[in-house]
Amino acid sequence: MSTSLDTLHPYVKQLALKFLEKCKAENFPVQITYTFRSIKEQNDLYAKGRTTKGPKVTNARGGYSYHNYGLAFDASPLVNGKIDWNNESLYKKMGAIGKSVGLDWGGDWKNFKDMPHFQWTGGLLIEELVRGKRPIAPGGDTVKVDSMKLLKFDSVKAFQEKMGLGADGVVGGKTKGAIDEIMKKPTLRKGDKGFAVRYLQFRLGLAVDGDFGSKTEEALRKWQIGNKLLADGVCGSKSWDVLI
Ligand SMILES: [Zn+2]
Repeated sequence: MSTSLDTLHPYVKQLALKFLEKCKAENFPVQITYTFRSIKEQNDLYAKGRTTKGPKVTNARGGYSYHNYGLAFDASPLVNGKIDWNNESLYKKMGAIGKSVGLDWGGDWKNFKDMPHFQWTGGLLIEELVRGKRPIAPGGDTVKVDSMKLLKFDSVKAFQEKMGLGADGVVGGKTKGAIDEIMKKPTLRKGDKGFAVRYLQFRLGLAVDGDFGSKTEEALRKWQIGNKLLADGVCGSKSWDVLI
């Protein structure tokens, strides 16, 4: 289980930072206790009080917690530098601070109150996340700056132009889809088409048409030699590791 804010969705990380800043400004010490949780870790937690010892700690199976998607984190108030798990009034104060920055607070839940828990769902139900949908952050532009930098683009518009998308500078579903496709680092070879091919062509300094043909293959071989990689003209994991 992670306590790093870097494992959170970029927008949730922003909200978490705002939350921490506000707590600090109010001289209200808190500690982040959990951020991202893998599906296996979630299943282990779900087993507690059911098939393994101890009290029940969650109602969510693996895949059915917002923690599994980097959309939730847990925090606790500190008293004299130590976590206070049971002080309800402190949790209420913490919940109010979290809500003021745009987070949902688990202390507001009716059935299973989860006082340390904060989340941002982007309006998506957990079932939608399970089916593969992902939320789009408000002002997606700013939260995608990190991936633009990573992909070596100066702006969202420049990225959209190379991807053959409407260059409006707004990160909507199509732009997000293109980013996600590239970030999957799919193995690319002659005959392949799509956003990842466009990205490869952009990085090879070629005309971008999204169609992996002979010219792309030849340029990729040269680039692989220059990067001391096996010059097979196939963009696999080792080539991707250099690209991104
Ligand atoms: Zn939680």
